[in-house]
Amino acid sequence: MPDFELRRDKLRKLIAKANARALLVTNESNVTYLTGFTGDSSYLLLMPKGEVLISDMRYTTQLEEECPGLKLEIRPPGTKMHEELARLITSNRVANLAIEAGSMTVSFYERMKSLCKGTQFGTSEGLVEELREVKDNEEIAAIRHAIKVAQSAFAVIRPSLRPDRTEKEVGDELEYQIRLFGGVCGSFPAIIGAGARAALPHGRPKEDVRLGDSDFVLIDWGAKARLYCSDLTRVLVTGKLSPKLRNVYGVVLKAQLAAIDSIRPGAVLKDVDAAARGTIERAGFGKEFGHSLGHGIGLNVHESPRMASDQEGKLKAGMVVTVEPGIYLPGWGGVRIEDDVLVTRTGCEVLTSVPKELDECVIN
Ligand code: ZN
Ligand code: ZN
Repeated sequence: MPDFELRRDKLRKLIAKANARALLVTNESNVTYLTGFTGDSSYLLLMPKGEVLISDMRYTTQLEEECPGLKLEIRPPGTKMHEELARLITSNRVANLAIEAGSMTVSFYERMKSLCKGTQFGTSEGLVEELREVKDNEEIAAIRHAIKVAQSAFAVIRPSLRPDRTEKEVGDELEYQIRLFGGVCGSFPAIIGAGARAALPHGRPKEDVRLGDSDFVLIDWGAKARLYCSDLTRVLVTGKLSPKLRNVYGVVLKAQLAAIDSIRPGAVLKDVDAAARGTIERAGFGKEFGHSLGHGIGLNVHESPRMASDQEGKLKAGMVVTVEPGIYLPGWGGVRIEDDVLVTRTGCEVLTSVPKELDECVIN
């Protein structure tokens, strides 16, 4: 079991640094990270000494199993969450409370605040997310497992990518295989983009588009397993391999390898982005790479850090990030290649291992 106590103690230091006394954690993934609880509608009040998880009776048994030893406050039926919170905040004399600005509605905030006259409220952003950036060994093992599930599922569907299959069939089959291999579900609905539709970086699979309608297909998928996510993209050649595809694919792969090569502890996020972006710009496709290079993965499929041209932060050992440059040409299609990379103490390790040399991506 992860050391939740240690995580909460590290968070206390960040809260103090942010000039707050206590933090109300309302983001579901953050609650999971700090307590191990995997249900919803439950908030964690973290104080300088001690903490309490506020939940309701639907979760009593699950809480006992998942969070042994954690102080619980089970909200009686008929009591509203904001009322229960206000009671706890007042009885614990919390003078200064930070909330997670990104995960609370304005109306909830106003209602809770109106009941806590003696408490000063402040907002915080990204405190737990900052902690979550660097993964411990158990988290890295869970991500490796989520990658294994995604790759096993992909290996099964790869031979079935026949011309008569629709994008939606491929997506559904992938989801099914992810679950058969032990995943909870896809870490997001898989993107299956045939030909010109691969130019839509986040296109949804369609029922009436068949793989045989074009010469290649972009597949972006991942698995959620043991709470953690994986995220990969490959382009497979299902028809004729054109010189244009060969050219675009070559540039994207070169850009991706250049970025991976620059990943090490201390590397500045925007510099890693620039390693890929520079390669793509020099090949004349700068305007066609319209998104950032990558993102952290963990409990969520998109999390901090972001590898983008405006990010001044640095990579640290233990971070797991995607590296996914792309070139998108409206009307023709797009190529993106995405792998998951662990920052190690001396450099990095590419955790994903689906072949990506163009010749290995041709389906006979
Ligand atoms: Zn992806
Ligand atoms: Zn991604």
